[in-house]
Amino acid sequence: MKKLFIIVITSGILFSACTKNAITGRSQLSLVPESTLQQEAVTQYQSFLSQNKVVSSSSNKDAEMVKRVGSRIAAAITKYYADKGLSNELAGYKWEFNLVDNKEVNAWCMPGGKVVVYTGLLPITQDEAGLAIVLGHEITHAVAHHGQERMSQALVAQGLGVGGDLFTSGNSKANGIFNAIFAPSAQIGVLLPNSRKQELEADHYGLIFAAMAGYNPKVAIPLWERMEKLNSGNTTPEILSDHPVDSKRIAKLQAEMPEALKYYHPVSS
Ligand SMILES: [Zn+2]
Repeated sequence: MKKLFIIVITSGILFSACTKNAITGRSQLSLVPESTLQQEAVTQYQSFLSQNKVVSSSSNKDAEMVKRVGSRIAAAITKYYADKGLSNELAGYKWEFNLVDNKEVNAWCMPGGKVVVYTGLLPITQDEAGLAIVLGHEITHAVAHHGQERMSQALVAQGLGVGGDLFTSGNSKANGIFNAIFAPSAQIGVLLPNSRKQELEADHYGLIFAAMAGYNPKVAIPLWERMEKLNSGNTTPEILSDHPVDSKRIAKLQAEMPEALKYYHPVSS
């Protein structure tokens, strides 16, 4: 009886903690406020940058490219949300784009627009458009609150308390989950992958945002095919353990291409 009572209460809390995503319309579990995640992201982003070798954009064309592509994607997202009357969804976004000298094939975006690209990704993306596809995808995970959803699920699964002081009370477990979700790296060793639904949403909107930013969305097909090939060796690149690629995903991208192309107006770089 007591167990049933707890289940009823818990499901009541979980039900009331579900929000409808402004862009996708999908109902998502959100136990941690976006503002709390953005605050934590500022702390964790600074800490990450201080512990890694950031490539200066004043003297390096790759780092400059990361900032340029990132800013264009951010501008496209800002416009997309504004056109839909949803600008308040991006309140608190203070975009930052940094390249770190690290051979991992990896890139991520924390809530609030804190982005890191690893130098190991660039030989695979090959050019600006390829990078735009990956950044469009990664940033979509953030703006579509996918990390918030995974964080909430992980907190429930681990029986951790939630609230405004989740991160500041020295809760190292919550900090660990945050980093495993938002800055996944081989070094962390914990894997909390995106769901298939989240992956498809990130592909769909990522293509649109890259196209709006002036990059040909068609490069997404050969790009993800190159990624898939990396997987045939002994090691799985970091970005693939979090974002698996298979023939179904490629087919879905191909099916979404006509819609993305409607948003595509090439810009000269
Ligand atoms: Zn993904």
